[in-house]
Amino acid sequence: MTHVCEECGRTLSRQRQIHRRTIESRHGEIAIERPYFYCRHCQRGYHPFDQALELAPERKQYDLQRAAAELFTEVPFARASQIFERLTGIPMTDHCMQDVAAKLGEAADPVRVLPSRQRVEAIIEHAGNGRVWRPVLVVAADGAAVPTRPEAQSRSEKRGAGEWKEAKGLRMYLVGQERIEQILSWHQIATEEEFGEALRLAATLIPVERVRVALLGDGAKWLWTHLQAAFPTGKEILDYYHCCERVHHVAHLQYPEQNQQAGWIEATMARLNFGEVASVIWGLQRMSPASLEAEEEIRKLIGYLHTNSQRINYRSFKRGQYPRGSGGIESANKFICHVRMKRSGAWWYVLNGNTMLRLRCAFYNETFDEVFARYKRLRK
Ligand SMILES: [Zn+2]
Repeated sequence: MTHVCEECGRTLSRQRQIHRRTIESRHGEIAIERPYFYCRHCQRGYHPFDQALELAPERKQYDLQRAAAELFTEVPFARASQIFERLTGIPMTDHCMQDVAAKLGEAADPVRVLPSRQRVEAIIEHAGNGRVWRPVLVVAADGAAVPTRPEAQSRSEKRGAGEWKEAKGLRMYLVGQERIEQILSWHQIATEEEFGEALRLAATLIPVERVRVALLGDGAKWLWTHLQAAFPTGKEILDYYHCCERVHHVAHLQYPEQNQQAGWIEATMARLNFGEVASVIWGLQRMSPASLEAEEEIRKLIGYLHTNSQRINYRSFKRGQYPRGSGGIESANKFICHVRMKRSGAWWYVLNGNTMLRLRCAFYNETFDEVFARYKRLRK
């Protein structure tokens, strides 16, 4: 029995001693014995059986690691460790789980986490079936604050102060009659440029000629620049609920009385719904501010409406069956970001936080199998 050295190509003969190891899988603990080959020249040892059997280098085998990943992407590591042992009878420390997470994170690149173009085309094909109009594909972007902490330079150094950083989220989905059809999600604590890059990569997966693209976002400028660059023909829509929030804010500052407040909000939103942005701006300019704060907020709202005036024509959007709100991205933010990232007392290193976000996106995009396959490949 021989084995060929993967580095120098020499034929190695089997070492005399048998190597034993104990592995743990769902089926419990198993002691195995397998031959060992060693290349003196390259100073490298081989256990070809491990490869043939797809054994993980760790004691805990891939089936357990995968099950752990399903848990620790949902709940904190310590809690995941508890549940894991209760369900499987096999102990797995939270430290071990963090280790698995970090290694999986290295395998979770955008190409793996995002679905393939083929898959995206299949989803669109299915949704467009029997319809006269091309389906509306919403590209929504939004930010969510994640609690982060700086990496300590040394063990003795005190932990730096925590800081909230923005996880920039991107979601694409099809708007159906009753429900929305998920296409992809990508969330990362990243710079604007990195967000733009991810968005452009995601855009290459979309057959734009087969859908009508709607770009949905709040007032943030960075977001529109990148959305437009990735989808030059997309229809821009200012998120109705975000717009509504801004109007509410001014109403609270301007009108002390509840009825007055509600009346003004209703009238204003009705006008905006009809795309009458200019008349709303005109009305705001004529207002005599109730306070300095109200004056400042009125000024800001005018600027906001002016900048986004082309994105507020909700009635015409409705005629085209475009959505007016990005309830979709907000629920994705909640689901992907808040649920796991915003736990009391949890402050993330950016690297670990981004790993967690990528793994959660992979589960949401149903691409976790691809990530896991790459993880195994990278370790051979
Ligand atoms: Zn060798």
